[in-house]
Amino acid sequence: MSTFGFHPVKKPKHKRNKPTAKERGAISNEVYNAAMERSGGRCERCGSIKGLQCAHLIRRWQIDGKTTVKDVAMLCGPSVNTGTCHNWIDYTKDGKQWAVDFRDQLYEK
Ligand SMILES: [Zn+2]
Repeated sequence: MSTFGFHPVKKPKHKRNKPTAKERGAISNEVYNAAMERSGGRCERCGSIKGLQCAHLIRRWQIDGKTTVKDVAMLCGPSVNTGTCHNWIDYTKDGKQWAVDFRDQLYEK
C-alpha cells in the first residue's frame, strides 16, 4: 500500500462540516474574472479565443477549501470536444501533466 493516492473516506452520517467537492470546485465570478484578466481573453495554452472555459487544473476533490484563480486556467473548449485544450487537460496524460505544471508555475509566482 502506498500512502500516495487513494484515501477512502467514510461519508459523515450527520451534518457535514467540510464543503463538498462540488462546493470546493465552484468557480466564483471573482475567480473567473481574474482568470479571464490573466489570460487576456485567450486560451492560456494555445492562444485561441474560441469557446474559452475556466478549466480546473486539478481534480475538484483535490482542492483544499475553495477554488482560487491559481487552480484554474482559461482554456479553449468545450471540454467534450476532442482537440480543444480543455478536453486535452481533462482526458489525456500529457494534458494532465501540463495542468499540474501550469498550476505549479502559478503558485510559484
Ligand atoms: Zn487552447
